[in-house]
Amino acid sequence: MMGRLSSIVAGARRDGSETAADLNPSRPEEVVAETSLADPALAGEAAAASAAAFAEWRETVPPARGEVLRRAADLLEARAEKIGRDLALEEGKTLAEGVGETRRAAAILRYFAGQTLEPDGETYPSHSRDTFLYARREPVGVVVAITPWNFPIAIPAWKIAPALAYGNTVVWKPAELVPLTATHFTDALHEAGLPEGVLNLVLGRGSVVGDALVTHEAVSAITFTGSNPVGRAIQLTATAAGKKVQLELGGKNPAIVLADADLELAAEHVARGAFLSAGQKCTATSRVIVERPALEELSERVVALARTWQLGDALDEKTKVGPLASAEQLEKVLGYLELAQRERASVLVGGGRADELGTGYFVRPTVLADLPAASRVLREEIFGPVAALLEASSFEHAVALANDTPFGLTAALFTRDLGKALRFARQARAGVVKVNQETGGLELQAPFGGMGESSSGSREQGKVARDFFTQWKTVYLDSPPVP
Ligand code: NDP
Repeated sequence: MMGRLSSIVAGARRDGSETAADLNPSRPEEVVAETSLADPALAGEAAAASAAAFAEWRETVPPARGEVLRRAADLLEARAEKIGRDLALEEGKTLAEGVGETRRAAAILRYFAGQTLEPDGETYPSHSRDTFLYARREPVGVVVAITPWNFPIAIPAWKIAPALAYGNTVVWKPAELVPLTATHFTDALHEAGLPEGVLNLVLGRGSVVGDALVTHEAVSAITFTGSNPVGRAIQLTATAAGKKVQLELGGKNPAIVLADADLELAAEHVARGAFLSAGQKCTATSRVIVERPALEELSERVVALARTWQLGDALDEKTKVGPLASAEQLEKVLGYLELAQRERASVLVGGGRADELGTGYFVRPTVLADLPAASRVLREEIFGPVAALLEASSFEHAVALANDTPFGLTAALFTRDLGKALRFARQARAGVVKVNQETGGLELQAPFGGMGESSSGSREQGKVARDFFTQWKTVYLDSPPVP
């Protein structure tokens, strides 16, 4: 066991009033660490510490802020094997996924370090010859970042790196399941020279400390990734308190496979999108819409991959699909599989827990078919290694099925027909469209976010991230008349 993990407020480790066990989802009897949980008073102190640190951090020149991020990136890179292993241990991702995600976090820090050398405003021609008219982006103030467990270092990095680069201070509330990864990330930033209080880590239950953070008078903005009900509740509370809010929520992402597609490629990408990270990503493929002539071959290929990809302990190098992250996740996913069976769906492969793997939260990669159109299995985010097949009679029918969801995060199409690809790129109601690529997998320099119920507020990642983390100030600068 790693010992005791605590909140970090104004640079000091601070214990709360309760402790919780951080469990290994591959073997839940194994305690990875003990977490001392913050109470609302400590969360309030963290917000106040961020407010106190803001005056100096906003005055720190942007390239100097960037240097801190760059040094933190170097530290994460040097520690990627160790942090990736701890991430896999507490979250259940495979070792390769954990190490890869840690390297991604380093790359995100480097990207936003680079952004601190980019132009930060615009000049405008004025109607007065003596006026220098310009507008400049300034930080918004104290930002609360509330992050989920499914990408425990990459998602925090893509919120915290731009927040800091553009001069904000941050209170970070990571998911309760991943306190060790959160501690590693915070430590790297502090060791890189981030001044005390600029980033404050609150290890506490969202239901306990959430309101204290979201409504705190010192807080200007909240950036959240997680479930729809929690995100919407935060939005209502925060908006009523006059805060800026950004939400990244769920998905029910479609992958359309047309009859002319390369079916080997399509099957590989569908399986990757549906089963990697045990399907626990907002960009996961959960509805596979196949044109009739391709249905049999595509489903056989996906089923074959689901059978061969090794399910097992996250730290076993041969594992391709790890466990679900928690007992709650297991219960939720098994609930959907039971519902599918009650609705007489065909279970082409998988369909339940892998009991032979012991106490870990392992669910077999699953392919379902023949679900009723109104089934909740086809409409709600499952967040497990489960794909449902749907048959389409034409391209138009496939697009209509793909768009038949309140979500709109990512959408994929597999085809060799450029005209259909372009039409799909226009007509798909999704924030990210992929052609001949899986629904998951993002590049950090491009905007990310969804339509409909999947997002609210401005996009994350890439240069556009600054729209959330900055506000414009317009300056009319006149010189007195020259004597
Ligand atoms: P939550 O939305 O509960 O958790 C996301 C974050 O919000 C966590 O840090 C959580 O803290 C925090 N939180 C919870 N309640 C509050 C609150 N009242 N005020 C402020 N913050 C709060 O998601 P779950 O972890 O419960 O996952 C449930 C489902 O949500 C998944 O099965 C999946 O469908 C979806 N989900 C989607 C994600 C995505 O990427 N789109 C990511 C994660 C989940 P704490 O951990 O302490 O509860």
